[in-house]
Amino acid sequence: MRKLLGHRVLSGKLSCLTGVRIGGSKETQEVGGTDNPILRHPINHLPYIPGSSLKGKIRSLLEQKHRADRVMRDGKPCDCGECKVCIVFGCAAAKNTQSVTRSIFRDCVLTEESLARLETAREELGVPYSETKTEVLIDRRKGLSHSNIGPRVQERIPEGTEFKLEIVLREFEGDPVDDYVKFIKEGVALMENDTLGGSGTRGYGKVRVIWESKAPQEAH
Ligand SMILES: [Zn+2]
Repeated sequence: MRKLLGHRVLSGKLSCLTGVRIGGSKETQEVGGTDNPILRHPINHLPYIPGSSLKGKIRSLLEQKHRADRVMRDGKPCDCGECKVCIVFGCAAAKNTQSVTRSIFRDCVLTEESLARLETAREELGVPYSETKTEVLIDRRKGLSHSNIGPRVQERIPEGTEFKLEIVLREFEGDPVDDYVKFIKEGVALMENDTLGGSGTRGYGKVRVIWESKAPQEAH
């Protein structure tokens, strides 16, 4: 077992350039909500982006780029335990696990400015920290909206909302940590060109990350 030298913290801001939809369960939604609620914190009901969603998306894009042969084989996350994806993001197969997962993706909470903005919208307009979007299915024969099914109402995190982003890298003796940082940032850049959350092919989920420019914090 190699020695843990410390943690490299990558922090920044994640902005929603379009509405973003990360689904929650109906049980935790507020009264008057939609059929397709977003994920919310159970106590304060504020929307957030779970670290698991972010990590899963970034990992899958990096695998599609660097481990395409493996992805093509069975469509499951790589569990070889040896490649950079497995080292940085973790390996699901215990028998192949050779080292500690290097990255930690924190849940992203609203920035103070976004919280204040959504708080104002809630007080003045009664908007519950989110927006709803109505989508209509088109009947192919008539070219009209489908009357039997009716419109589908989806809840989204509104465009312009910003979250605090924090990704931590555990640095073990001998780790090429700068390379791991570059790898994670490459994955984030892929996500910016792709989408985060649901309904990405229908205009949802465009995000931008702005990294904090100050030197990364060392927590030795
Ligand atoms: Zn692997």
